[in-house]
Amino acid sequence: MREYPLLIIGGGLSGLAAGIRFARFGQKVLILEKHSKAGGLNSYYYRKGRLLETGLHAITNYAPPEDKHAPLNRLLRQLKIPRRTLKLRQQHTSEILFPGRANLCFSNDFSLLQSQVAKRFPDSVKQFEKMLTGIDAYDAFTPRPKVSARKFVSTFLQDQLLVEMIFCPLMFYGGSDEDDMDLSQFVILFRSIFQEGFFRPEGTIKDLLGLLLQQYQDFGGEIEFSSGVKEILAVNNRISGIRTYAGEEISCDYLISTAGLPETRRLFTVPEAAATFSELPEDKTSGRLSFLESIYLFNKSARNQLPQDRTIIFYNLSGKFSYRRPDDAVDLNSGVICFPDNFEGSRQDDIIPLRVTHLANYEKWLHAYDDADKSRYTAMKTDWTERSREVVGKIIGNCSENIVYEDSFTPVTIERFTSRTQGAVYGSSEKIKDGTTNFENLYIAGTDQGYLGIVGALLSGVTMVNQHIFNRM
Ligand SMILES: Cc1cc2nc3c(=O)[nH]c(=O)nc-3n(C[C@H](O)[C@H](O)[C@H](O)COP(=O)(O)OP(=O)(O)OC[C@H]3O[C@@H](n4cnc5c(N)ncnc54)[C@H](O)[C@@H]3O)c2cc1C
Repeated sequence: MREYPLLIIGGGLSGLAAGIRFARFGQKVLILEKHSKAGGLNSYYYRKGRLLETGLHAITNYAPPEDKHAPLNRLLRQLKIPRRTLKLRQQHTSEILFPGRANLCFSNDFSLLQSQVAKRFPDSVKQFEKMLTGIDAYDAFTPRPKVSARKFVSTFLQDQLLVEMIFCPLMFYGGSDEDDMDLSQFVILFRSIFQEGFFRPEGTIKDLLGLLLQQYQDFGGEIEFSSGVKEILAVNNRISGIRTYAGEEISCDYLISTAGLPETRRLFTVPEAAATFSELPEDKTSGRLSFLESIYLFNKSARNQLPQDRTIIFYNLSGKFSYRRPDDAVDLNSGVICFPDNFEGSRQDDIIPLRVTHLANYEKWLHAYDDADKSRYTAMKTDWTERSREVVGKIIGNCSENIVYEDSFTPVTIERFTSRTQGAVYGSSEKIKDGTTNFENLYIAGTDQGYLGIVGALLSGVTMVNQHIFNRM
């Protein structure tokens, strides 16, 4: 039987980061990835010879190189990736667009958001500054019971419109709960999106994944693709190893799972072991929030029609911003419109990409997908994509005649390719903040540890290895 000091379930960003951190010190480690390539929620595919990214709009947590303590710079040091190899490009300006008097712009210079709040919400300036002091003072990394972020924010801000406008980008880029979030998540997201900001490395997600994989393999780490873990094997309160779909048993001293909380629970086929892993039943831990994501490629004639100074637009068209699983298949009342080329110094290609995200209802899509005849599902996709294009066209200008390629994916697609239950992009609403489980050598990393997005997932992998495994070796 093969034996490893560390086995990692999942070759997404958190799994790769955990692997690099462990392998860097000459330790033997194996990542088992179910899919045929790395990346998980943040991957890519090819259509008509073009690479299309599944996840990456923008990376959060931008920091200048001299800020040695910033999460991004600490992360790159831990992974031993020189910052210059990434050639970071900062966002231009992003915008939160609501009906009425409301739009707020922000960039990687936080003073822009402060001045926008002063201009649009003059009566709220002092309250906003007090909230910033509250955010600065909050230690988001100490494990503690969930606290409502809405309650926290409403102790400072009276203007409900400003409250909704602040929550909109944070929820779209990290909300795993409906209409509210845990205060720790709120603080992490507020800092990483508003106070630090967005960037993209040069190239595509494939380049970033290639860099991480190369680093991992150069340190001696092993990875096996199309190699799903079917079962986690436990003896008393210890994990002894795993069994793959191919039937191989592999033993380990430590196991890190990045598959997610309900997904990991399901890998315990013995009911007692599943109950030991988590007392929470699956319906309490499955996330409900998923998206319809559309990718458009425009020809260069669209360049002068599309906004060039906006990187991301978070929009909401109705009186109240609703961040929940919609009753309909898709909620077009709100969404994210991302221009992946609108970063400083981005190459101006002949083809211009655009990404659009809306909240979507997993059950409605699954219902259509479950028909033996897939034509209903396909027709539903075409219909909602057309309706989305119409709504988005009213915001950014209608360039439909310049579209050379479009594709959309639904909550069902996300579930199929990432094994995230119900296509829940931000995972379970329950997070295991310290990553520990009732098994002394099993840790949860990634989305369900509560560090979100690309930088969050990478940091989570590194932190779990540092805190729990290196400490005990
Ligand atoms: C449409 C979309 C847009 C996004 N946009 C952004 C963005 O712009 N910026 C940003 O920062 N973040 C974005 N994200 C979120 C970001 O992609 C995720 O937060 C991050 O990639 C999560 O990484 P992870 O390692 O925690 O989980 P995952 O990526 O889910 O990795 C888990 C891995 O485990 C594998 N796995 C599952 N079960 C098993 C098993 N039984 N055996 C073996 N392997 C298994 C899966 O195949 C997967 O590869 C986006 C996500 C989506 C879907």
